[in-house]
Amino acid sequence: MRNIFKRDERKGSTVQGRWTLLTMLVIFLTFTIFSYILLNTFQQVVLDNEAAEMEDLSEELLTRFSNRYYPLTEDATESMLEEPEIEIGAVPSPGYRIDREEEYKPPVSLTKGGIIVKVYSPDEELVYETDSEEFDFMATEEKKIAQIAGPFGKALSLTEPIYSSYNDNLLGYVQVLQTLEGYHEMTDDLISYIIIIGIAALIFSSIVGWLLISTFTKPITKLTAAMESIRENLESDVRLDEGTKNNEFSKLARTYNEMVDLMQSNIRNQSEFVEDVSHELRTPVAVVEGHLQMLNRWGKEDPQILEESIEASLQETKRMKTLVQEMLDLSRAQEIDVYFKNETTNITDLIRQLVTNFRMLYPDFTFNVDDDIPDDTYVSMYRNHLEQVFVNILDNAVKYSTDRKEIHISLGVHNHRVDIAVQDFGAGMSEEDLDKVFNRFYRVDKARSREKGGTGLGLPIVKELVEGYGGRVSVDSILDHGSVFRIHIPISTE
Ligand code: ADP
Repeated sequence: MRNIFKRDERKGSTVQGRWTLLTMLVIFLTFTIFSYILLNTFQQVVLDNEAAEMEDLSEELLTRFSNRYYPLTEDATESMLEEPEIEIGAVPSPGYRIDREEEYKPPVSLTKGGIIVKVYSPDEELVYETDSEEFDFMATEEKKIAQIAGPFGKALSLTEPIYSSYNDNLLGYVQVLQTLEGYHEMTDDLISYIIIIGIAALIFSSIVGWLLISTFTKPITKLTAAMESIRENLESDVRLDEGTKNNEFSKLARTYNEMVDLMQSNIRNQSEFVEDVSHELRTPVAVVEGHLQMLNRWGKEDPQILEESIEASLQETKRMKTLVQEMLDLSRAQEIDVYFKNETTNITDLIRQLVTNFRMLYPDFTFNVDDDIPDDTYVSMYRNHLEQVFVNILDNAVKYSTDRKEIHISLGVHNHRVDIAVQDFGAGMSEEDLDKVFNRFYRVDKARSREKGGTGLGLPIVKELVEGYGGRVSVDSILDHGSVFRIHIPISTE
């Protein structure tokens, strides 16, 4: 219990800082992964496109170069490329007419960005090139696409042997190269954009993260401040704002406020109880002390003083004993939940027995019982507790009766509960006392109650017991005319 109030001296990083960092990290990682996937996909698509274009071009060139008997030479290649059907790097002009459709071959663009064409003889001698840029060349037996080093980094190379369409002789090799200049430029641009957007996203996300997390941690900060104020001063009336919404935070605030209210009321009750008890014990202790001092000074020799003092001291000791017993009863009455929740008692039996006892104890009183309920009515209450409730109420009825020594007891059943009324025609109580008689140690007339051996704990015990079993107790009274105590106790369902 104590360590709740112990100050936690540990220093630590703030939750807000850590969460902001975590959010930033998560956003950064997500962004990086997505950018990487996007960049890779983009690169793949571009490379596939370039490779497809290279294949188209190489196919076109092969068709032209294979149309011959002998290996390719420089002159031959040049002249084949200059065939009238071929227009290198040009689109057919609007006036271009195709006279013989079967001879038409679509123009091939050899000047397209990044494309270089090289032609090699069968003995791997370079015989023709559209650009003097040097690239690795390896003769192959079939079409081969490879990534090689180019002037801008990675480049694509397609090498394919050329066989004569007449005699299948090897005429040479065609190598189509793509320097990927545009691809490299675009990739560089894309990476720069990704970095810029990434930094902007990181800054933005950390600001948003900080703001969001501070909104979430605000209630916790407020809760901590409220708890600290309670720690400084247990009586502090600092409470959390419950707000108008019904969300987790307002529930937390409500629960916290209720908890603090309960704690403070318990602390107040406890200190009041200690004050009340010491106040109650002060009188009998002072009386006993006074008598003992008197005896000590001059009473030892005087049998009459001795007699009187011993008599008075015994009476006060008896009062103290009753007081202690009743305090114990009251404290036990608060533990019903734990021990006696399933107990049941035959109420008609108990009332009859109690009335018989009271008639014997107070023969000058008339007890009228009007029990309008079945004989085997059981209520959900432990027998000793129910007995204590009736004894306390009947005791009071006797104690505070005046001339008309008559007590009426009635029992009835309503809505799964037994209603009991105990009426006397005695001193009664004023309206303002009615609200207080169930408070601990409250007595309308202290001197009178004391004289009758009252402690002011009888009715609080009744209330605690009855309510502990889910019942209710109330009182109606008219000063100088009498009182009616009403008790409702749930009928046992078993
Ligand atoms: P006590 O031990 O003084 O009787 P209780 O808690 O039983 O304490 O009762 C509290 C006070 O309520 C009594 O001091 C008395 O003033 C008042 N009271 C209780 N019962 C009656 C009653 N039947 N008629 C008049 N006053 C009553």
